[in-house]
Amino acid sequence: MDKRTFIKLTGLAGAGVVAVPLVSSLIGCGTSPSSTPTGPNPGGIFSLPELGFDHAALEPAIDSQTMKVHHGKHHAGYVRKLNAALEGHPMAGSALESLLANIQPNDTALRNNGGGHFNHALFWKVIAPATSELDASPNGPLERRINASFGSLEALKNTLAQAGASQFGSGWVWLVQDVNQPDQLFVTSTANQDNPLMSGIVPPAAQGRPLLGIDVWEHAYYLNYQNRRTDYLAALIEQINWSAVSLLMA
Ligand code: MN
Repeated sequence: MDKRTFIKLTGLAGAGVVAVPLVSSLIGCGTSPSSTPTGPNPGGIFSLPELGFDHAALEPAIDSQTMKVHHGKHHAGYVRKLNAALEGHPMAGSALESLLANIQPNDTALRNNGGGHFNHALFWKVIAPATSELDASPNGPLERRINASFGSLEALKNTLAQAGASQFGSGWVWLVQDVNQPDQLFVTSTANQDNPLMSGIVPPAAQGRPLLGIDVWEHAYYLNYQNRRTDYLAALIEQINWSAVSLLMA
């Protein structure tokens, strides 16, 4: 990764580079409360963010028991194992976003649990129940960029559903903003808990600023949908809180 890409991905603004908030700081998973979003994480301890809504709030699309286990057990487990993996690690004390950008492919504990923490923190934000009609569909710059990049919201939804259905095994589907061409949005998918911020791991074509992540692990839907991933995707895609997605854009 060259310096320019590193600066843009990590938000470490230098002279002439406009600082944009890190996604991790916007979704509340970047650092301990005592640190700044881009600076060191002195406590070195990540914590489970609040879900922000009731476990039953997304029924019937996502059942209460799935939400309870997914947030309280799965996400909590990633946070616990991330903190354990960082004990004595050279990257201990790093903010999450710079940590993700610098993970090596064979560092599986950090890769799986750093990704797991970030991905789920983002997921809870973008599926938060709508509080107004503005949340139900994209507006303003996000709407313009979706139309320019995909043709229409319907086309984007179809692309997300297809990418989710064709991801083999566990993984995530992403709506990503190109860091060099902010008007350009694209859809990609990653295996396991990888994400578009892992520039040492995912191919360049999958790298960028994640605006929306859809969890296609079976633990996200199995209790209610069993093997019917396409039904889960169809229901989930209609739950997306587009105001929350818009807030993550640079
Ligand atoms: Mn999950």
